[in-house]
Amino acid sequence: MPNDTSTLQDAVERFVADEVLPAVAAWDLADDLPDAALRRLVGLGLTGALVPAEHGGPGLGVADLVPAWRALSQGWISLTGAINPTGLATALLVRHGTDAQRARWLPRIAAGKVLASLSITEPQAGCDLGRIETSARPLAGGGLELEGRKRWVAGGASSDVVFLLAMVEGADKPSCVVLPAEGRGSDTWIVGDLDKIGYRGVESATYRFERHRAPGAEVLGDDAGAGARQMLDALDVGRVNVACRGLGIVDRALACAVQESAEREIGDGVLGDHTHAQIRVGELVVRRRAVEALVEKAARAVDARSEDARELSTAAKVLASDTAVWAVDRAARLAASRSYTASAELARLRRDAPQTQIGEGANDALLLALGRPAIADA
Ligand SMILES: Cc1cc2nc3c(=O)[nH]c(=O)nc-3n(C[C@H](O)[C@H](O)[C@H](O)COP(=O)(O)OP(=O)(O)OC[C@H]3O[C@@H](n4cnc5c(N)ncnc54)[C@H](O)[C@@H]3O)c2cc1C
Repeated sequence: MPNDTSTLQDAVERFVADEVLPAVAAWDLADDLPDAALRRLVGLGLTGALVPAEHGGPGLGVADLVPAWRALSQGWISLTGAINPTGLATALLVRHGTDAQRARWLPRIAAGKVLASLSITEPQAGCDLGRIETSARPLAGGGLELEGRKRWVAGGASSDVVFLLAMVEGADKPSCVVLPAEGRGSDTWIVGDLDKIGYRGVESATYRFERHRAPGAEVLGDDAGAGARQMLDALDVGRVNVACRGLGIVDRALACAVQESAEREIGDGVLGDHTHAQIRVGELVVRRRAVEALVEKAARAVDARSEDARELSTAAKVLASDTAVWAVDRAARLAASRSYTASAELARLRRDAPQTQIGEGANDALLLALGRPAIADA
């Protein structure tokens, strides 16, 4: 991996300019994030970047990665999303793993030999983790037997290990199960795939466990019942990643709006001669600055593990994603029919942006989580 963050940033920007932007329309159409592109991200060290030095990684912080995540998202948010679960798994292991679990997984994550998935969501349980039903029963001799259904597992058909929320026998709250991929695809661990309108190329797997015996499965931190707390803690990292996806979309919407304003001939001049186009671009500039500032502040708070890290990372994710959807709409008004051909960048951004409002928690549920205590404290 490049040995400092500015070299990493340069390498990511070159990758996006040379390899992503020329190909992204075709990748999106084919619903295919090519393995070579994922391997490039691994080779750049992006999946192992958060692993501390004592476990063989560079020990970068979330704030160090914000520029790289943003640049990737300017190319395609599917790339930023594809590397996210391994970063979350790193945070889970560093913050909550046992020494043996850290030693088992972190050096291989640092070396780019292991990619992870996170599996929280179930058909009846999204934001409400109290409704998790997948169960895990300890096996004699070690491991767990799993029963239940999961949905929306990013990278879940090919990852090496899955961090999965389940009700472990004996605990009254969900636990985080570290589940190696051995046995996936068998007739007791059945894998399906969800077709998506946007955020294409990222595997969105479904799982059905039918008394699946997983001898290598164990509870994170050996702490049964602590899974929801552990997952929510690591999601602070993921929310900054999602916020960077929103920010990258805002960057591209602004670029499209500027290009349309400068190039589209209207009457005797161009669209940008008109006040409404100038105001529209001005608004995009202002809101981009606001999102950028909040994302950077949230990333620093997550690294410092400060008291307001949860509130800031949640606020950054909500603001960035809602601004992304708004920004694409504003740019598309200027582009009009040129935003509506299937291969137009704005058409893809219009399908991609809502993913950032859902992933890592639906925005309305996150607003509830911020609003309720604010009112209760009054
Ligand atoms: C493209 C994509 C990728 C994803 N990747 C992953 C992944 O890798 N791993 C994973 O585990 N999940 C993943 N998800 C799932 C995602 O995290 C969930 O969709 C999200 O948490 C929302 O859950 P839900 O869709 O079940 O909605 P719900 O939680 O059912 O929310 C539905 C509605 O109910 C409201 N609501 C929720 N809770 C409350 C409450 N307490 N009080 C009042 N109203 C409430 C919400 O605001 C919303 O309006 C992904 C989703 C998508 C679309």
